[in-house]
Amino acid sequence: MTTPTISRDRIKAIAQREAAAFLSARPRSAELAEQTEQHYLFGVPLHWMADWGTPVPLFVERAQGAHFTDVDGHQYADFCLGDTGAMFGHSPLPVAKKLAEAAFTGYTAMLPTADAAQAGHALTERFGLPFWQLATTATDANRFVVRWARAITKRKKILVFNGCYHGTIDDVFVDLDANNPSAPPATRASLLGQVYDLTQFTDVVEFNDIKAVRAKLASKEFACVLTEPALTNCGMVLPADGFLADLRNACDETDTLLVFDETHTISAGYAGYTGLCDFKPDMVVAGKAIAGGLPCAVYGMSAVIAQRMREAKESAPPGHSGIGTTLSGNMLTMALLATNLTEVATPKAFEHIINQQNKLSTGLRSIIKQHNLPWSVTQLGARSEFQFCPTSPKNGSEAEAAMDAELEQAIHLYLLNRGIMITPFHNMTLVCPDTRDEDIEHFLNVFNECLTELVTN
Ligand code: PMP
Repeated sequence: MTTPTISRDRIKAIAQREAAAFLSARPRSAELAEQTEQHYLFGVPLHWMADWGTPVPLFVERAQGAHFTDVDGHQYADFCLGDTGAMFGHSPLPVAKKLAEAAFTGYTAMLPTADAAQAGHALTERFGLPFWQLATTATDANRFVVRWARAITKRKKILVFNGCYHGTIDDVFVDLDANNPSAPPATRASLLGQVYDLTQFTDVVEFNDIKAVRAKLASKEFACVLTEPALTNCGMVLPADGFLADLRNACDETDTLLVFDETHTISAGYAGYTGLCDFKPDMVVAGKAIAGGLPCAVYGMSAVIAQRMREAKESAPPGHSGIGTTLSGNMLTMALLATNLTEVATPKAFEHIINQQNKLSTGLRSIIKQHNLPWSVTQLGARSEFQFCPTSPKNGSEAEAAMDAELEQAIHLYLLNRGIMITPFHNMTLVCPDTRDEDIEHFLNVFNECLTELVTN
C-alpha cells in the first residue's frame, strides 16, 4: 500500500465546507459574536479565544464533566478541557460543593486558613517536596521560580529548551533558528512590546541533547534549567531514555537548579512526571488544573533550596521582593486546592484517565495505520498528541517541522462539527475522569471518517 497524498486543494475544500457548516448551525454564537465585537478587542475577553480557526467564536452555554453544550444547543465531548485547566473534568463535584460552601465565608484576607495546612500536606505527600508557595497562574509561578533561582544562585542566566512554553514569562521566549542550526538564539519575533534582548540572560538548546546542555552549563553562569519533563507545547516531545537523569546530573555538577514545570505533564500520573523519576527536581511548578480549573498555581522546593531562599530573603534589604501577587493563596483558592488534591485528583482518577487515554491513543494509531499515513501518536499518561511525522519527534525543531496549520484546522473543524473538541494550535487530546468509552468511540469514528475524506482524491 502506498502512502496516500493529501492534496492542499482537498484540505482547503474540507476546511471551507466545514467552516460554512459551522456557521450555519450556530446562529446564536454568531449573534453573540456581533454583540461582543462591540465591547472586546478582537471580540473576545482574551484575544486567544479568537484563535480557534472557527468563523465566529464558539460560545459555551454550560460545561460538566467531559462534556459541554454550546449556546445553539450542540453537545460536545471535550478533549481539550480548557487546554488542561479542566483535566479533572468541568466543575468536578467535590470542588463545586466546596465552592458553594465557601462562597459565604470570605474570599481573600491576605492571611492563611486551615485549608492551607491541608493543601500543604497534600502537595508534599504528592510530589515529595517539603516546601511550597502559591501563585495565581502557572505563568506567575514560573516567573517567581526564575526570580528565586537567580536570587539564590546569584547567577543571571537561565537555560530553556527550544520550542518550550511556560506561560507569558518573558525570559523563556528565546528560539533556535530551525533553518540554520549554527545561528545564535534569537528573541521570539512575535512577542509584542518586548524591548529587551532576551538572549542576554536566556540561552536555549534542543531537548534531548545532553551534550549541548553540558556545554552550556559548564560555564556555571546558569541559575536554573527550566523545563517541562516532556515538551507539550510544540506538539509533544518525550524525554529520551536517561535524558532527564543526565540532566539532573549535569545540573548537580554545575550547581544549577533543575526546575520541572509540571503544568501539563501532571497528565503523566499522580505526581506528574516527577513521580516517574527516581530523582527529584529542585523545584516543581504546577498550575491550571491543580485547583480544579480555578486560578491557582503552586511551586515546591527541596529543603536545601528552601533554606537558600530563606537566606536570600533575610539578607535582602527590607522592601518588595518582586515575588508574589495580592490574591495568591487566597482563602477561596486554598479551600479549592485542598479539595481538588484530596478528593478529585486521586490515584484512582489517574488510573482511569490514563486507561482511557491508552484506548484513545491505541485507536488513533490504528486508524492512522489503516490509512497508511506517515503520522504518529505520542502519549504521556492522560494526554496524547497526533503529529504529522512518522515517528515521535525528538526535539522542538522536529516537532515544529511536523506542524501543518492548514491541515490541523481542517481536522479540528471536522471534529468540532461532529461533537468532538480538541486543542487548537496543535493536536493535543486530553481525557478527564468523566471521559467515557462512548466519547472515545465517537472520537475515533469521526477521526476515521475525516481521514477517509482527506485521503480520497
Ligand atoms: N507552563 C506550561 C507548561 C504551560 O503549558 C502553560 C500554559 N499553556 C503555562 C505554564 C502557563 O499557564 P497559564 O497560562 O495558566 O499561566
